[in-house]
Amino acid sequence: MKELSRVYSAVAPSATLAVDAKFKQMKADGIPVVGFGAGEPDFDTPDHIKEAAILAIRNGETKYTPAAGTVAVRKAVAYRIKEDFGVEFDTGSIIVSSGAKACLFAAFAAVLNPGDEVLVPAPYWVSYTEQIKMLGGVPVPVFAGEDRSFKVSAAQIEAAVTGKTKAIILNNPSNPTGMIYSREELSAIADVCVRHDLYIIADEIYYRLCYDGAEFTSVITLGEDVLKHTILINGVSKSYAMTGWRCGYAACGDKAVAKVMSNSISHSLGSIGTMNQAAMAEALCGPQESVEEMRKVFEQRRDYMVERINSIDGVSCIKPNGAFYVMMNIEKLIGRTLGGTEIRSAGDFAMAFLEKGLVAVVACDAFGIDNFVRWTYATSLDNIKEGLDRLENFLRG
Ligand code: PMP
Ligand code: GLU
Repeated sequence: MKELSRVYSAVAPSATLAVDAKFKQMKADGIPVVGFGAGEPDFDTPDHIKEAAILAIRNGETKYTPAAGTVAVRKAVAYRIKEDFGVEFDTGSIIVSSGAKACLFAAFAAVLNPGDEVLVPAPYWVSYTEQIKMLGGVPVPVFAGEDRSFKVSAAQIEAAVTGKTKAIILNNPSNPTGMIYSREELSAIADVCVRHDLYIIADEIYYRLCYDGAEFTSVITLGEDVLKHTILINGVSKSYAMTGWRCGYAACGDKAVAKVMSNSISHSLGSIGTMNQAAMAEALCGPQESVEEMRKVFEQRRDYMVERINSIDGVSCIKPNGAFYVMMNIEKLIGRTLGGTEIRSAGDFAMAFLEKGLVAVVACDAFGIDNFVRWTYATSLDNIKEGLDRLENFLRG
């Protein structure tokens, strides 16, 4: 057989989805494993959203739509952005596609030429670096560890810019760290980006999941110059418990970017399910109470998880105030033998904890940081209690 694509063959599988697949396989095999791998709300999609999709099917909304989505769903996106941030986008600047993931891919595809560098604050969500590589770009991690609350500074970004830097990906609140940038921090970073004429790809998919009264600042509210450089990425997966509907959106400060994204999608994915678009429009424009109800539950779970982790010898975490992830520091476990395995890395720990402790967590090596594993608290309190009980038992050796 002839050689497969060198670029695509070098792509690593998504670590989050790989853990989730292994967890689901073990479960299907009758093994009583508890999963904290993929960040996916355990709640069901609210009924009024499901009903909108059912109605669309009944009304015969079962045909192709424009590649960037129906006018109705793009108006719904514009409505939600205006409501939440007071910024107006016209429908020609908005793209609706198959989850925030597809919107991110289309955004990178629209701005990158081979060899272009993209600054990626680390720890980062696993798909950014792989998407950039798939498109011939070069991801350039800019690291901030636990001692800096996992947040990069404007000075670090400035120092990382080269003649080849084309864009930055800013994920706020962050997956995997759960950290939120203050308006001042974000504004200082955005100013550097504008000065160097970088595209700012702002992944704000967790913006409605902020805790302790933390104030969220969207990049699009930082002034006209910043807005012009920004491609806002968002979606309904996390806030409306709609992961399986595959609905995400992009809103571009520069309409020319939206045009390139839409054209590329018209040849690759095409439009997403017409009835899914109707559901997304309902999610964005219909009653919003369930978003807040779910947020409150996430906050309680986070409090429990953080407190328990910090009460267990050998592990620790700092308290995140957004998204639904906790980064557990396992540095003190390196060199110990647990479940019959010598732990030399977070990957060893995650594998032994899954196979012997029957708990699935994600090793953060894939997120660009050593000696941490990520737990999600997008699962029931009962599961969280059980998972942490198992951690205590597992650490006893
Ligand atoms: N961005 C981040 C930071 C995420 O955690 C996820 C989770 N899958 C996505 C984008 C993609 O979300 P989706 O494709 O489900 O909209
Ligand atoms: N974004 C979630 C996570 O990081 C879901 C899985 C994925 O799409 O990667 O776990």
